[in-house]
Amino acid sequence: MLITKVGCCGRYNTIVTNLDVKADSPLKEELCLYKKNGSCGICVKHCPSGALTLDGYDRHKCYIVLRKNGELYTEFGSSYTDESGDDPNSVGSEVCGKCVVNTPCTFFI
Ligand code: SF4
Ligand code: SF4
Repeated sequence: MLITKVGCCGRYNTIVTNLDVKADSPLKEELCLYKKNGSCGICVKHCPSGALTLDGYDRHKCYIVLRKNGELYTEFGSSYTDESGDDPNSVGSEVCGKCVVNTPCTFFI
C-alpha cells in the first residue's frame, strides 16, 4: 500500500519514456494514521487472511487469497497481460484489495 495525496486505492505501472519531466521530491510527511499517531489500523481489520498486520505484510499469505480469487472469478479475464486464457499463472482475476477500500486513506489523506 502506497499512500499518496490522492489516497492509496490505485494500481501502479512502469512507463518508459524519453519525455523531459522534472522529478518532484519524496513526501516527508507520514500519511498513515497508524504510523503517525497509533490510530486507525482499519486496513489490518479489513484483511481476511492475516496477511496484513500491524507488524507488517506477508505477501505469501496475501497471494494465497489472490490465487483463490483467480480461480473463482474468471469472467473478468486474467490479471495478466495475456487475455487469451493461455497464461499459466491464472485465467481469472487475482485481486483482493479489501485493505485499500473504505479506509481513511482510500481516496485522500
Ligand atoms: S487504513 Fe490507511 S491510515 Fe489507516 S492504518 Fe491503514 S494505511 Fe494507515
Ligand atoms: S489484498 Fe486482501 S489478502 Fe492481501 S493484504 Fe490486502 S486485504 Fe489482505
